[in-house]
Amino acid sequence: MNVGQFLTKAARDFPSTPGIVHGTQSWSYAEFDERTSRLCHALQELGLERGDNLAVLMTNCGPMLETMFAGFRLGCGVVPINFRLHPNEFAYIIDHSESRIVATSPEFNEPLRSVAAQMPRVEHVITTDGAIGDELDYETILEGQPGECPDAEVDPDDVAWLFYTSGTTGRPKGAMLTHRNLEAMSMGFFTDMCPDRSQPEATLHAAPLSHGSGLYALPNVAMAATHVIPSATSFDPVNIFECIQQHRITNIFVAPTMLKRLIDHPDIGRFDLGSLKSVIYGGAPMLVQDLLRALEQLGPCLVQLYGQGESPMTITYLPHQDHVVDGDETRHRRLGSAGIARTDVEVGIVDDNDRRLATGEVGEIITRSDLVMKGYWRDPAASDNSLRGGWLHTGDVGYLDEDGYLFLMDRSHDMIISGGENIYPREIEEILVRHPAVHEVAVIGIPDEEWGEAVKAVVSTVDGGEVTEEELIEFCRDHIASYKKPRSVDFVDDLPRNNYGKIVKRELREAYWQGRERRV
Ligand code: AMP
Repeated sequence: MNVGQFLTKAARDFPSTPGIVHGTQSWSYAEFDERTSRLCHALQELGLERGDNLAVLMTNCGPMLETMFAGFRLGCGVVPINFRLHPNEFAYIIDHSESRIVATSPEFNEPLRSVAAQMPRVEHVITTDGAIGDELDYETILEGQPGECPDAEVDPDDVAWLFYTSGTTGRPKGAMLTHRNLEAMSMGFFTDMCPDRSQPEATLHAAPLSHGSGLYALPNVAMAATHVIPSATSFDPVNIFECIQQHRITNIFVAPTMLKRLIDHPDIGRFDLGSLKSVIYGGAPMLVQDLLRALEQLGPCLVQLYGQGESPMTITYLPHQDHVVDGDETRHRRLGSAGIARTDVEVGIVDDNDRRLATGEVGEIITRSDLVMKGYWRDPAASDNSLRGGWLHTGDVGYLDEDGYLFLMDRSHDMIISGGENIYPREIEEILVRHPAVHEVAVIGIPDEEWGEAVKAVVSTVDGGEVTEEELIEFCRDHIASYKKPRSVDFVDDLPRNNYGKIVKRELREAYWQGRERRV
């Protein structure tokens, strides 16, 4: 089925239920559906056809949800873009996805104009405010359009969402998520993440809709939950508490960094957060000591997920019932795990030759299910490699214990996760080596109390080259998204190398990670 039907059906069955609430604005499910239908007609008039891709570059807002559902309904691939990227980076994604239409919010009008030359295929930019010249105004194109639109017939394996991950080689790759994947993901949400649906549901989109929160929007639309979008554009704990209390939020997805900021906030006790049934955290590791504090503050509503864009939402999960504060040793140890395989998901561990490893042995985590992507957009070699043997190779390293709990140890690619954002060192290294004073550089993740990991660059300079830490950080800021720039730089005479002359990052990282079992 077309996952756009989640909205059609919710609007038919629950027309007056609040669909989207953003600040002082709100739309019922009937209005959400009607506006989405109008947008579908407008997009068709602009030439969008089934099978095309549609880029969405917006901060969280009602039109973002409408645009995503319009794309699904028309049988198009929706390409939500991380709004924190540098203009060069989002231009790359728009061009690579072959999107001819980009829907945006006003913060990106100017940045998009500045990179127009890098996106020669783009024919129309639709903005929710501040259109100039040929740009189209979002509300204006909806005017006069019919308020109903049939959902396109799709094949379950048609692409519904092109999920751009940061590429291990520095370039982002588009994981093709199909209607089948998103439907399986949504049904799994009901089974494992949000089993109790005895009360009206409301979700809070505290994380970007382009990633985690947008995936959760699907099952939440399917069950006609109210989608609340915080009015603050950056993560503001007090605003989050206010929204939870005012709208009786029942489920929310947060990165561990966000969860930590919430539970550390001195005002948390002032608010009634008792409506929360599923606080889903994941995307990066969470320290057990923080988890215990979260449990004490929020009660038994936590669920951990471990997944990746290529297998959206989850591969394993640590269910509600495993989140216990005063359990025995086994239960306590499980708090440091990423939980058990999801109900409809297979998980295994393999060695470098793809041979299955036994319980307790450390190797690469692989998974197989209806959630696993179809492949990478326009990258058959990378698709074949990551899906070899019919299993998704996650690039994460870990082991399964005798009870089937997955313990994540490391990542086989040297990706850094800082504040829930994936950062690939190679991308930053490629920038830094362009600096005339830099001879060699290795970028690694080091432990950080607040962000999980922080980016560190270890640099050797050319003979006579002089450069400061601040200058190098500033140099990165000019080329890549700000969150990727190193937070600190160490200068060394030589970087450690192995017999093949390759820099041994493990050795560099060792100094910072000593004494910790988990290296992620
Ligand atoms: P993304 O594709 O942006 O969702 O990033 C996926 C990566 O985040 C995974 O491959 C893991 O390395 C990491 N990750 C996701 N969930 C967890 C978790 N619960 N604990 C530790 N790392 C995680």
